[in-house]
Formats: sequence, C-alpha cells, structure tokens
Amino acid sequence: MRLWLWFYKDFAPTVLAHGVIMDMKRILILLLACLATPIALAEPSLAEKNAAENVAIEKEWESWNAPFPPLRLIGNIHYVGASGLSSFLITTPEGHILLDTGFETTVPRIRDSVTQLGFKLTDIKIILNSHAHTDHVGGHALMKELTGAKILMSEADAALLASGGTNDFTPYSKEMMGYRPAKADRILRDGDKVTLGGTTLTCHLTPGHTKGATTWTMDAVEDGKVQHVVFFSSTSILQGVPLVNNPQYPGIAADLTASYKKLKALPCDVFLAPHTGFFNLAEKADQLEKGVRPNPFIDSKAFKTFIEQAERKFLAQLESEQKNTSEKKASVN
Ligand SMILES: [Zn+2]
Repeated sequence: MRLWLWFYKDFAPTVLAHGVIMDMKRILILLLACLATPIALAEPSLAEKNAAENVAIEKEWESWNAPFPPLRLIGNIHYVGASGLSSFLITTPEGHILLDTGFETTVPRIRDSVTQLGFKLTDIKIILNSHAHTDHVGGHALMKELTGAKILMSEADAALLASGGTNDFTPYSKEMMGYRPAKADRILRDGDKVTLGGTTLTCHLTPGHTKGATTWTMDAVEDGKVQHVVFFSSTSILQGVPLVNNPQYPGIAADLTASYKKLKALPCDVFLAPHTGFFNLAEKADQLEKGVRPNPFIDSKAFKTFIEQAERKFLAQLESEQKNTSEKKASVN
C-alpha cells in the first residue's frame, strides 16, 4: 500500500510532466509495486482477524458485566449477578449457596447485590457452577477467599478450574479464556445432591459446552406451591469448535446428544440459565417489579422451547459436518 502511495505522490506527476518514463529504477519499483498489490490488498491475516474478534468479544463481555439490580426471583432464589452473566443466591437458614461467580471483576457486583438484599456475603457456604468458563467461574478463587465457602464441582470442570481455564478445547487463546485457578473441595457425580438448610439441589452432568458442564435442579416454593426450577448449564457450540473429528474432544457430539436427551426429560416450571438473555431476565424482572402475578418466572414452556431450538441447531451443524466429511472421503476414494 505504501508503495502505491509513493507512486501516486511522487512518480505519477513525473510521468505526466515529461510524457516519457525517464527513470528505469522507478519502472522497476513500479513493477514491484504491481506485484506487491495483491498482497497489500489481500484479506487480513488470521492473526489480524483473531485480534479483531478478540476485541469484539471483550467488548461484549464488558457489556455482560454491567451491574443489574438484585432481586428475589422465586422462593429462596435470588438474582445477584451482572446484566448478562447470572449469579444465583439460594438462601437458607444455615447459610447460602452461590451458583456462578462471573468474571473476577463481577465479584464486587455480587458482593454489593448480596448486601443490598440484606444478606451477608460470609454466609455463603457453598459455591456451585454452570460450567467452568472464565465468565462463570473466573470469580471462584476470589469468592472463596472472601467467604471461605467450599467449591463443589464436576470432575471435568474441576480440572478446568484448576488449570485456570487453560486446558479447554475452545479455539480461543489461553490469555482470553484464562482466569485465576482454584481448587474444588468436593467432586460431584451425576445425580449427586447438595443440601444446605433444608434446600436440596440435584446435579445433572450435561457435558458438551464444557466437558464438565452441570445443570442443577431444585424445588422452590412460591405462594404455597412447589415449582420445579432448572438452572441450565449451556449447550452452545462455540464458533470454530467441530462436532466431527474433534481431536481435543472426540466425544463432543455423543455427549451433546446424551445431554439433550437428559435435559428434555427434566420437569421445569422455572427456567434459569448462566446467560440472562437465555431466560429473558430483564423483561421478567420488570414484570415482577410491576407486581405481575403469577410470578412471571413461572413458565412451563420456556425451557422446552429453548432446548428444542438449541437441539435443532446442534443437529443441523452435526448433519452438515457429517455430510462434508463423507463428501471429502468420497472424493479421496
Ligand atoms: Zn461458556
């Protein structure tokens, strides 16, 4: 590009003025410029593309991390997270359970929200998670320091947490996905129960988004009625993660297939999730604030609709990748 600028600024007027090209050296440079042009005007390099993508993601993360007014959602479940990143506080007479800690920079927001609702941060006894990505467990180490709470986690997510998010299978850089590592105090298996002060949460391993992604269920009582609550783990497939021939996670498609089967079988009256957009927090919180009854978070269709839609997307990607793979194989044979 610079060569072209030089040519227009300096060389072109010379040609116009004299009508003939006098300087052979400049002709040579012009030829070189012509050869260099396709390179200069070519697509941005992979590194440039990745850098631009990283900036866009970091901007999105910043917006997710904006404060959100805390509120009681239903029964003993409170929202204490940021505007795009959920953190749920499940309160009991014997202390509280915190599900997801956001980024490390989300922790002060969670602390303020817990206090604003009239609870004590140091009463948090157990820290759980949806999945061990930086935007949901990046604050685990700090939250554990501030509260002395125990971290309970699936085996695979505990390994990811211990690595500070760096032994993951995403195509994103370790700098981007990394966070302060923390150690799990108890490893959870599928079907395990976590009980505190009369509240019990059940652990459902739903791998795919991370290898240890965990969906939680519990019963909440609202107006004397029991409501089945699902805290979904996420099953999104990150951009650039292959479902077929994935050397870092060969079982990804099989795991997601099994996770969808499991998720579709869960009874759900209240759908909650690690990202607020999944369950329309802002809209429902606004309705709740305006006094809409029954509680707008009670919606027996929301989870089913969300999961069916996500599964269709997964199956379409799987089918397209399988087709491409078999076409490639056919052309080789
Ligand atoms: Zn994630």
